[in-house]
Amino acid sequence: MLSTMQDEPLSLATLLRYASTFVGDSTVSTWTGTGVRTMTYREVGADAARLANALRGLGIGIGDRVGTFMWNNNEHLVAYIAAPAMGAVLHALNIRLFPEQLVYVANHAEDQVVLVDGTLLPMFAQYLPNLKTVRHVIVVNGDASALSAPDGVQVHSYTELLAAQPDTYDFPVIDERSAAAMCYTSGTTGDPKGVVYSHRSNWLHAMQVCSPSGMAFTGRDTILAIVPLFHANAWGIPYAALMSGANVLMPDRFLQPGPLLEMMAAQQPTFAAAVPTIWGGVLAGLAANPQDITHLRTAVVGGSAVPPSMMRAFQEKHGVRILHAWGMTETSPLGSVAHPPSGVTGEDEWEYRYTQGRFPASVQARLVADDGTVVPNDGEALGELEVRGPWITGSYYSPDGAEVDPDKFDDGWLRTGDVGKISPEGYLTLVDRSKDVIKSGGEWISSVDLENAVVGHPAVAEAAVIGVPDEKWDERPLVAIVLAEGAEVEPVELREYLADKFAKWQLPEHWTFIAEVPKTSVGKYDKKRLRAQYADGDLT
Ligand code: ADP
Repeated sequence: MLSTMQDEPLSLATLLRYASTFVGDSTVSTWTGTGVRTMTYREVGADAARLANALRGLGIGIGDRVGTFMWNNNEHLVAYIAAPAMGAVLHALNIRLFPEQLVYVANHAEDQVVLVDGTLLPMFAQYLPNLKTVRHVIVVNGDASALSAPDGVQVHSYTELLAAQPDTYDFPVIDERSAAAMCYTSGTTGDPKGVVYSHRSNWLHAMQVCSPSGMAFTGRDTILAIVPLFHANAWGIPYAALMSGANVLMPDRFLQPGPLLEMMAAQQPTFAAAVPTIWGGVLAGLAANPQDITHLRTAVVGGSAVPPSMMRAFQEKHGVRILHAWGMTETSPLGSVAHPPSGVTGEDEWEYRYTQGRFPASVQARLVADDGTVVPNDGEALGELEVRGPWITGSYYSPDGAEVDPDKFDDGWLRTGDVGKISPEGYLTLVDRSKDVIKSGGEWISSVDLENAVVGHPAVAEAAVIGVPDEKWDERPLVAIVLAEGAEVEPVELREYLADKFAKWQLPEHWTFIAEVPKTSVGKYDKKRLRAQYADGDLT
């Protein structure tokens, strides 16, 4: 028996229509260094139509890739919705990739046109000669004439291009399963791989972001989107904001703790999203120059494990609730979110809030042991996390149809490479990435557990733990420490600090003090680089 329901496709053009009409007074604002420049969603709708007309004029059609090489700003939001709404595919390029990776990704995706921020033009100019499929560059808020383009590439000014266009567009009705946007993994543990989101997956994912078991966006929120729009689908923020009418505050290139705190003071956002390293910097900034940040109802933190000491500090010193979440580029990215169950309050909340969170109904999860058996969700048994669902990728993008990394898929499930346990109530606790876990004498030591514990010491600002080769035990942990401003501490004291938290054989004997932990292009600890640094056994 068929239902009587209308078969209305979940297209992002519908979302744009909604945002620019019924919640058309909501705004997106970009920090300029001293204040903001603001557009209403009604104006976003008009500019999205202008951009769609302009792109069509440049020959962009259904399924063509529209790249962006931009900070988080108003125009990036316009592109984020205009490209998919017209049937093209938005591809936000990670501006911090190594040059060869950036070129690889843009060529692999076959980007036809790239919108580039004026401030990023000098960097982009270096890559442009190697971008094989790019025919048009649109310079946003910058001097288009400053870019000398190779033969066959035309350079346009965003402002001039849009000024010549009508502010309406006949957005086509698109099959909800067709491509809307693509994103490459940031290559923390390997080469970047392409994930292609559909209109349907982005729409359903946005509904989950807006739901109370997600991030609970409403039209009364102002979302400070620190997570770059090129990192993992921007954690779903752009489409969820348009869906809920939440206002968005974009930090542009001002991503250091000082300016972030300044824009918070000026704009009073109610919600913010960023990786733990950013929040670590904000905490240090607050320690140096105290400021009320209780306007934030919640700050969602994910991308790597959030140390419990960081969550406590935000809650107890600053009255801000950190919401821990887990996800991947491949999962759109919202996987699990650490809201405590109903009825749990006060101190009891922490055991749930420290976890990577609870899976929503749309994300099925299971743990698989090394021998391929599924282990029970009893809160104890460990296994590799596998997930499936309507916004989880079922393969990686391949221009020629050849399978990319088929080992990442297991009978319809995505293998995440993360090792952990799941409680009967559906809360995930990750132990480590399988590539980062330290194998010592046939047993595992969680690098994340050690990092979380060490960073709880007041003298430590950052701690990254890697396995280093060891003749007797295969691998032993090495702790790389960045000291807090003006602090001093000896390894022996740190070892003592850990003594009651870990078994004796897990306690690290290798310690090193460094000025900064190397970070990946999305601000995570770059353990690949750290490992390379200490691979030769130089453990001074
Ligand atoms: P990359 O794989 O290049 O780092 P992603 O941002 O897609 O790019 O990374 C996804 C991975 O980040 C997950 O597989 C997991 O290892 C890690 N991760 C994400 N959120 C968390 C979290 N809350 N706790 C621990 N690890 C996390």
